[in-house]
Amino acid sequence: MDNQITYGNDYKYIPGTSISSGNGIDILPDLYSYTIQIVNICLVGNPQSNDFVLVDAGMPHSADKIIALIEERFGENSKPKAIILTHGHFDHVGAIIELINYWSIPVYAHRLEMPYLTGKQSYPKPDTSVEGGMIAKISGMFPKEPINLGSHIEELPTDGTVPYMPGFQWVHTPGHTPGHVSLFREEDRVLIAGDAFVTVKQEYLYKVLTQEQEISGPPKYFTTDWLAAWESVKKLESLKPAVAITGHGLPMSGDLLTSNLHLLVKDFETIAIPSHGKYVDGEIQ
Ligand SMILES: [Zn+2]
Ligand SMILES: [Zn+2]
Repeated sequence: MDNQITYGNDYKYIPGTSISSGNGIDILPDLYSYTIQIVNICLVGNPQSNDFVLVDAGMPHSADKIIALIEERFGENSKPKAIILTHGHFDHVGAIIELINYWSIPVYAHRLEMPYLTGKQSYPKPDTSVEGGMIAKISGMFPKEPINLGSHIEELPTDGTVPYMPGFQWVHTPGHTPGHVSLFREEDRVLIAGDAFVTVKQEYLYKVLTQEQEISGPPKYFTTDWLAAWESVKKLESLKPAVAITGHGLPMSGDLLTSNLHLLVKDFETIAIPSHGKYVDGEIQ
């Protein structure tokens, strides 16, 4: 029996915040995004119902905040039907053990992300040599060892549907991590992009702090397969999203999103791919 669920040995609180930290944004009546320090979580579901899902699980030590936020929005003792993970990086699973223990709900992720969520494999070391600012430099201290969610983690269904999120499809968007997924709802063209692309230059402390909007590829220090990341952005652009909530930065919508995504696809090499870095050299050119 597998009831031992644990974080990796290098799990720890990471200081650092942004001007958006603690802010929530109602994007649609059934879609709410909230910033925990530097990362966004999403609540999908109507506040009048008790049918909702949490997408991603915030930073280390943020469980109390997430639980309070959910009870405030959906009522006392409410709990999500499930947690859907875009991927398993520490800033997207930071509170997950406490949340599973508190709610006892299932967690879903892509099959290729499983080794990092079941204690089998560490993420590659962040590349602190990529060009960029303070956050890239300190990324060496970010937890990368696998957490183990044991029997609580399940694979996303192979038919592309997302459990408890009717209307949504998951889209495999590897590159940032092997099993990274984005979530798309055709009806209103809503995209939850995870870290496939972000709307803030995540490597720069100043830009993270101010959340200045600027399209960017996946956070550079953690991305290992740049060609796959490029293909993933092309895939997302072809969906023609009307609004995108990204793992970092403010939501982007309308013409601004369309033109920025187009630009990112076209100039991915200059905008997204670091000019040097250990996951770049030898892979491109
Ligand atoms: Zn990530
Ligand atoms: Zn992230």
